[in-house]
Amino acid sequence: MAKKAKYVYFFGGGKADGKAAMKNLLGGKGANLAEMCSLKLPVPGGFTITTEVCDLYYKLGHKYPAGLDKEVDANIAKLEKLSGKTFGRGENPMLLSVRSGAAVSMPGMMDTVLNLGLNDETLQALIKLTGNERFAWDSYRRFMQMFGDVVMGIEHHDFEHALTEVKERRGAEADTDLDIDGLKDVCKQFENVYKKAGKSFPQDARQQLQAAVDAVFGSWNNTRAIKYRQLNDIRGLIGTAVNVQLMVYGNMGDTSGTGVAFTRDPSTGENAFYGEYLMNAQGEDVVAGIRTPEPISHLADVDKASYDKLVAIRSKLEKHYTDMQDLEFTIERGELFILQTRSGKRTAAAAVKMAIDMVAEKLITEKQAVLRVDPKSLDQLLHPMFDPAAEAATETIAKGLPASPGAATGQIVFDAHTAEEWEEMGRTVILVRIETSPEDIGGMAVAKGILTSRGGMTSHAAVVARGMGTCCVAGCADAVINYTAKTLNAGGRVLREGDWLSLNGSLGTVYAEKVATIDPELTGAFGQIMELADKYRKLGVRTNADTPHDTEVAVRFGAEGIGLTRTEHMFFEGDRIIAMREMILAASQEDREAALAKLLPLQRDDFIGIFKALAGRPATIRFLDPPLHEFVPHDKAGQEKMASVMGVDVQVITDKVESLHEFNPMLGHRGCRLGIAYPEITATQARAIIEAAFEVPDANPEIMIPLVGHVRELAHQKQIVLDVIEQVKAEKGVTKLPFPLLIGTMIEVPRGALTADEVAVEAEFFSFGTNDLTQMGCGFSRDDAGTFLKQYVEEGIYDADPFQTLDRNGVGELVRIAITKGRQTRPNIKLGICGEHGGDPSSVEFCHMLGLDYVSCSPFRVPVARLAAAQAAIKHGAPGALTATKKPVKKTAKKKAKAVKKAAKKVVKKVVKKAATKAKAAKKAVKKTVKKATKKAGKTVTKAKKTVKKAVKKATKKVAKKSAKKKARKKASRR
Ligand code: PEP
Ligand code: MG
Repeated sequence: MAKKAKYVYFFGGGKADGKAAMKNLLGGKGANLAEMCSLKLPVPGGFTITTEVCDLYYKLGHKYPAGLDKEVDANIAKLEKLSGKTFGRGENPMLLSVRSGAAVSMPGMMDTVLNLGLNDETLQALIKLTGNERFAWDSYRRFMQMFGDVVMGIEHHDFEHALTEVKERRGAEADTDLDIDGLKDVCKQFENVYKKAGKSFPQDARQQLQAAVDAVFGSWNNTRAIKYRQLNDIRGLIGTAVNVQLMVYGNMGDTSGTGVAFTRDPSTGENAFYGEYLMNAQGEDVVAGIRTPEPISHLADVDKASYDKLVAIRSKLEKHYTDMQDLEFTIERGELFILQTRSGKRTAAAAVKMAIDMVAEKLITEKQAVLRVDPKSLDQLLHPMFDPAAEAATETIAKGLPASPGAATGQIVFDAHTAEEWEEMGRTVILVRIETSPEDIGGMAVAKGILTSRGGMTSHAAVVARGMGTCCVAGCADAVINYTAKTLNAGGRVLREGDWLSLNGSLGTVYAEKVATIDPELTGAFGQIMELADKYRKLGVRTNADTPHDTEVAVRFGAEGIGLTRTEHMFFEGDRIIAMREMILAASQEDREAALAKLLPLQRDDFIGIFKALAGRPATIRFLDPPLHEFVPHDKAGQEKMASVMGVDVQVITDKVESLHEFNPMLGHRGCRLGIAYPEITATQARAIIEAAFEVPDANPEIMIPLVGHVRELAHQKQIVLDVIEQVKAEKGVTKLPFPLLIGTMIEVPRGALTADEVAVEAEFFSFGTNDLTQMGCGFSRDDAGTFLKQYVEEGIYDADPFQTLDRNGVGELVRIAITKGRQTRPNIKLGICGEHGGDPSSVEFCHMLGLDYVSCSPFRVPVARLAAAQAAIKHGAPGALTATKKPVKKTAKKKAKAVKKAAKKVVKKVVKKAATKAKAAKKAVKKTVKKATKKAGKTVTKAKKTVKKAVKKATKKVAKKSAKKKARKKASRR
């Protein structure tokens, strides 16, 4: 017989049905309450209704599985027995809290009900029992409001309105100024609020509990919880659990209190007890930021016994969980209770420091330390901070709490909605709020920084900002915020919506202007965690860099080479674009070659810079890739300028620009298709690379042909490169290149991936261009898919944006096929990835499983990739589990390679022939250009002229020979 399902798990009296490992079933809160109970920590008893019930609640159309009621009743009885109290009646009434708790913490996103079980009868009992009439009435009015708002769906502001009206009538400023009669009055008014809303407050405690449980399960799918899960990429959970627990009170007078503590500093990672508390308050008073709490160390002066107990619990919990804990506690009339523990949210800096410290303390292993840091969060550490000199010279207009570190500059907005709107418009914003609430989550996510005038280090704003890695200054009482006037008054200044503001989240300082930033230091704990990552990772990590400066930055971040230089990016700077445009707009091959001759030395210098910055590390340099129309001027003024530079009629330019227009340019005349149409572009780029490599002793170039879908495209382009190599070698008077050189291709066209065994005949390496492979594999235009992809992800059609996280089953399969086939032809073919996915942790993990040699990503993501690669190695062991196939069928592969070569020969033959006939014209054109350039640039160009002349002479001679192709091949094989 099948085992009867268990829906409710009890904890209390030092025993528990559950344990920490049961997070998926009991939620994080429930599992840890059970664990703490078993650890004999002072946890108020209670029970947890499982996440499975939440799942069933939705599946059964908001109904519960049979048997649940009985289980709940039995657990209430058990709790009554444990506490010696009775639920909803009697002299010693049992009051309960009802809280949500999913497997992954979603702070403030779901519902909570406190003081449940209060009614007219138990209220009187509570008064008698506590002898504290004010406390009892205060609890009752809080419960009526919370229950009405959260469970009955009555508008929150109706209660607030009624409360304010009583306060005004009775001359009370704060809630605490209301006396017993005032609170009775509030309860009466609240009854009217219920009536007006057509609802009645249930006196029956069991009914109250049922309605509260419904509300908590219902809140799993409220808008803000859904948005939070989306923003934090929380997937695969079946629902929330509901924790029903005995109430303990922090608001029973001066010997009671409540607080939140972290076993280490969640901002810096320092090994110091950290937290805040408030005496005579309930939990939400601390988190909501309504009163500003005291630092935890002050508790020692107020209640030494509780403080000492807390300190002991701090170390017990850390040792047990071997991680920093975030705990909630309440002191009820001198007795300490722990209400929650969980692994604490932390800044990236804190995560890194704690991981390294805990290894030194022998609390965790090196591998655990590597797994402790979220690679994506490293971003926070890599981005610029305010330049100390500029910051010192800027007037501080206000100072608040350094709630979440970093530097942020942006335009002021006063509400979350505007923040989202402005961000869509491309502005950077600072969200300025008196305090934040979960409704603000969307605006907080897009803001560069958050400033609040109220609340402590554990206020909503502080906790959420730290989790997001967003800079935040909280509790900045110096800043007076007026939502109606949309003003921020601070330091004698009045700032309005749209004004610039800068925040230093590490110091808590606020500036009324933009402040310059500098690059971060990558030493200390950061350096150590990176060393550990390097120790365990198997994947190489390169960078995508187009300039010597980017290369230097990437090398500082640990890049082991360049995986992609997009040479087209070199042509946008300064006057280069003019020469580039001349090349594109040229009416004849002669003119184009003349323009290319101007670009050659510029590009050669760039490559020299890059090779030097790499100090021997390899550089994969890709030939021109984008459609040419991207470079030409589309505006009248730009076209007129080009007409005058080139000495032609503006109509000639306009016509040419129009002729370059393409309907779908990303699938158009780009990549190797350009090099095939204009071989002189390929030849010039090859020459620039080879000549530059001659200048730098430890240069290590790899030439990459883009957008290859057919091996013959590659063979065509490769032949041009080989010819240039021969020319340059002859010019330099050497028979062998003094540096290593590989010629390979990008695999970014599905046909290229599917015929990778053929492509590998010519390619010495593959670099997966997963941006284009995603575009063509999924059929999503890179430029336009943004409009609907967001919805695709929201509706769960794709788990994630495939341009950010590699679509493993589709595009990933193309990569897997290409690897397997490529290795059949060339078992040791070098394999990398250079699409955006190379810096995305999930995609890096997949690359490890595919057994790539390296990933390549933008400089700032290099540390992210290093850490993600290490985590993948620790999680999955040896690389290449997905491509480990039987030995390639050598015979068939060899036969196929031969056939491919034979077919490609025809194409290559044409290239050689064409080169020979063109050489003469080229010589003339280059001569003309050199003459012009010499006049302009004097000495330097004279030298260039000689070199080019010499080159052309030799090249002409060579290509004219009938056996050119054969020789070139022979020599190439000696490289
Ligand atoms: C790619 O397609 O993945 C790639 C790296 O090239 P680009 O983004 O320049 O097209
Ligand atoms: Mg591409």
